[in-house]
Amino acid sequence: MILTDKDHKDSFRNVWALAEVLSGEIQPVTHELIGAARALADARGSEVWAAVLGEGTASQAEELIAYGADKVVVVDEAALRGFSDELECGIVEGLIRKYKPEILLGAATARGRALMPRIAVKSVCGLTADCTELGIDPQNGDLLQTRPAFGGNILATIRSSNHRPQLATVRPRVMKALPKDASRKGEVIRERIEAGDAGKIKQILEIFQDKESVVNLGHAQIIVSGGRGVKGPQGFELLRGFAAKIGAAVGASRAAIDSGWISYSHQIGQTGQTVQAKVYIACGISGQIQHLVGMQSSDLIIAIDKNPDTPMMQLADIAIVGDLFEVIPEIIREIDKV
Ligand SMILES: Cc1cc2nc3c(=O)[nH]c(=O)nc-3n(C[C@H](O)[C@H](O)[C@H](O)COP(=O)(O)OP(=O)(O)OC[C@H]3O[C@@H](n4cnc5c(N)ncnc54)[C@H](O)[C@@H]3O)c2cc1C
Repeated sequence: MILTDKDHKDSFRNVWALAEVLSGEIQPVTHELIGAARALADARGSEVWAAVLGEGTASQAEELIAYGADKVVVVDEAALRGFSDELECGIVEGLIRKYKPEILLGAATARGRALMPRIAVKSVCGLTADCTELGIDPQNGDLLQTRPAFGGNILATIRSSNHRPQLATVRPRVMKALPKDASRKGEVIRERIEAGDAGKIKQILEIFQDKESVVNLGHAQIIVSGGRGVKGPQGFELLRGFAAKIGAAVGASRAAIDSGWISYSHQIGQTGQTVQAKVYIACGISGQIQHLVGMQSSDLIIAIDKNPDTPMMQLADIAIVGDLFEVIPEIIREIDKV
């Protein structure tokens, strides 16, 4: 909203996380948003609120308190079955006018990317998309929104000093969720917000999930990922065999995708998926910044490369210098002996 004086700005309070709801289920990225909101709210001495819009979601709202929310606003209406960005935008705008959050965080998913810019336009405030880090300026409550810029070559920190609320999106698996604490107490507020005529513009008749094109790397514990060093589709067959032995998912660099060796749904990085694996095994990936931003928060990074001096080999916890076509079959032979 356009702010005219300091008092007006100070009337906005608390950090909100907008829940990601798919087919009536609250998605795990919501817990990560609440984790990020908790850190900001603690720094501001304010509260974490979660907003949940969707049919049949009321029963799941309590769980968000266990993940760190102080209050949960639920709009549980049959009209919210499926996803309508026009309808949800009108409702969130109504909530913003009523409750005046200082910060609103959303997920940088297909749904969040459709919804959050609409909310920003309607509420006349800024939005920083795909943040990799969030902080707060203790002097004035400005949200410090860090994200890659200029093709990922620099990290820019952005403020929206003159407008409230401050809107930001964060990709799944970038922020860490807090451990679930079932003993936490909070409040669930049911709201019925009219969204005007927006809901009449379109009607969802049926929802299809394109399972073929979705590779859910985001929640994989172990990922075997291949780059240009894999040299072709046959190289990815070697990686798939290795992945199957250790219960891993298969990821890839953009160079491998652009070469047509594996489909886009496997891409990790700035223009692909963000992952936070327990073990990330990079095979023939040099580790350019656009790839690193998608996987560098993995717990244990193992790199296999002929060149010991690549950024990925420098970042890795375990760096194996060698030809991946010799190293991986050797690892598989050792596993087979066990
Ligand atoms: C706007 C923008 C967005 C981008 N988004 C992404 C993104 O989301 N994800 C992404 O990955 N990239 C992205 N890129 C591309 C990125 O800049 C790099 O070009 C890309 O990540 C390089 O892929 P690579 O590491 O597989 O290839 P290379 O950099 O060519 O590295 C190949 C590595 O394989 C090693 N090697 C070769 N043969 C063998 C062998 N036999 N055994 C072992 N090692 C071997 C080499 O030593 C080398 O280190 C983006 C670029 C731009 C400009």
